[in-house]
Amino acid sequence: MTAYEEGGSVEQFQVVVIGGGVGGLTLALRLAQQNTKVLVIEKDKNPGKIYKGELLQPKSLLHFREMGIDHRIVKTSHPLPTIHTYEMKEAADGTVEESMYIPLHYDRLPVTFPEARMIPHEKLKNIILEEAVKHDSFHYWNPAAFQKFTSMDSKVKQFNRAMVKKEGEEIEIQADFFVGAEGRSSLMRKAMEQQLVTTQYNHHFLTVTFPRPENYTEARMYASHKSFIGLFPLPDNEVRCVLLIKPGDYNRMKKEGLHTFYDPIIQFEPELKDCVTQIESWKKIQLMIPIRHNIHEYVQGNAAIIGDAAHAVHPMAGEGMNLAIQDGAILGDLLNWMFETNNLEPKHLRMFEKVRKKRADRLSLLSHFSALGYAWSFKWYQWGRMFALKRFERHPILHYKHMLNISGVGWWMYTPMDAARFLGPSSMYMRSRFKKRSQKAVFTDQDDYPWRKKRQSSEED
Ligand SMILES: Cc1cc2nc3c(=O)[nH]c(=O)nc-3n(C[C@H](O)[C@H](O)[C@H](O)COP(=O)(O)OP(=O)(O)OC[C@H]3O[C@@H](n4cnc5c(N)ncnc54)[C@H](O)[C@@H]3O)c2cc1C
Repeated sequence: MTAYEEGGSVEQFQVVVIGGGVGGLTLALRLAQQNTKVLVIEKDKNPGKIYKGELLQPKSLLHFREMGIDHRIVKTSHPLPTIHTYEMKEAADGTVEESMYIPLHYDRLPVTFPEARMIPHEKLKNIILEEAVKHDSFHYWNPAAFQKFTSMDSKVKQFNRAMVKKEGEEIEIQADFFVGAEGRSSLMRKAMEQQLVTTQYNHHFLTVTFPRPENYTEARMYASHKSFIGLFPLPDNEVRCVLLIKPGDYNRMKKEGLHTFYDPIIQFEPELKDCVTQIESWKKIQLMIPIRHNIHEYVQGNAAIIGDAAHAVHPMAGEGMNLAIQDGAILGDLLNWMFETNNLEPKHLRMFEKVRKKRADRLSLLSHFSALGYAWSFKWYQWGRMFALKRFERHPILHYKHMLNISGVGWWMYTPMDAARFLGPSSMYMRSRFKKRSQKAVFTDQDDYPWRKKRQSSEED
């Protein structure tokens, strides 16, 4: 008998999700859609004011399609089929000229959504929440904060009951499974006694959203030997901007005035002058300190952690929010399968870790390397980056591999052969073999949901 079926005086759920961020809500929607009784505990009453991830990778869109909410997301977001990157030559007097143009093409991917999409973070969460509350099996306590586990068998890491603070009252709850989706500071991770492996960086970012001209619809990244700026159009004629700075620059810039923020943006994108200068206060501009952390295990007993609780990644490749969504979608499918087939032994949760950990680790590393590409302000460093980027862009296999891997749609391992491709002529590849191999690298339902095969084979038996 499951804890949920046992009943009693304590409130019972099949799954309790701690944290109603984008990862927790995606998980809960997937569970509620299959009538799994789920409780989401979210401590913040009001929508978050800090900027978070807004770029949706194609794989996240595919998961939302499986959940039947892609049309709402497409309607509310801005498409980016290509990211235009420009390497700029910056003279001592601050004048800049283009040295190299490198387009990164999502539209080469053989998938339903061959594009990234920009959507305001809170709007995305609202869509998921609005869809989830349509289901009776979805329960949302907000504001309410998870505090601690009150009953657990530490030998087998079986978490039984938890204490939640809701409207000043302490309420005990019970569940068959607990999921920590509380972001970077995770009490669940602590309860699982998972040690963080952390990487820090030699740079920070300033980030802000401001108005854009209607025809400014393409994503652009500008880099010189000492500057980096990303400009990503959002719907409703807004653009999200990120500016790389050195630690300590933020305080200096604040002292010197807002022009220190406007100037680098106008320097690379003069047509945004009238837009960026509409930012009237430093309060609107957010300091973002990139960090990367990993842990060894995402699952212990009947508990799992997803999203930033399990893996924070450097934001350069736009992966953080996507990893959280993809974790939520895949863990949700597994838990539904466990309840549907009455396979409730916690050991089955390990299948989530098997599918997701390798993918998250790879994308964390890819984001880390992307960050290193912009980490030092030397001219020779920029020349090296330009050489590498151009080689990646012009070779069809290398370009495809990169876009496939960052999109989350598949994984095509980098091999020693890539070194030859990197250095050799771009015509050095066989079109027919490329087509076959490139399709094989796309994740199938079998790769995403291996437990479904178990269902099929047990039905066949
Ligand atoms: C400043 C910043 C900028 C970022 N920029 C980008 C970007 O440009 N691109 C990108 O892809 N990613 C970016 N990210 C990362 C991205 O936002 C995260 O990876 C993503 O939001 C992770 O989702 P999540 O659901 O795991 O966690 P979160 O979004 O952090 O959600 C966790 C939720 O849990 C709640 N919570 C925490 N503790 C408790 C508790 N004890 N009880 C109840 N509720 C609790 C919190 O209130 C929060 O709502 C950024 C992150 C930050 C912080």
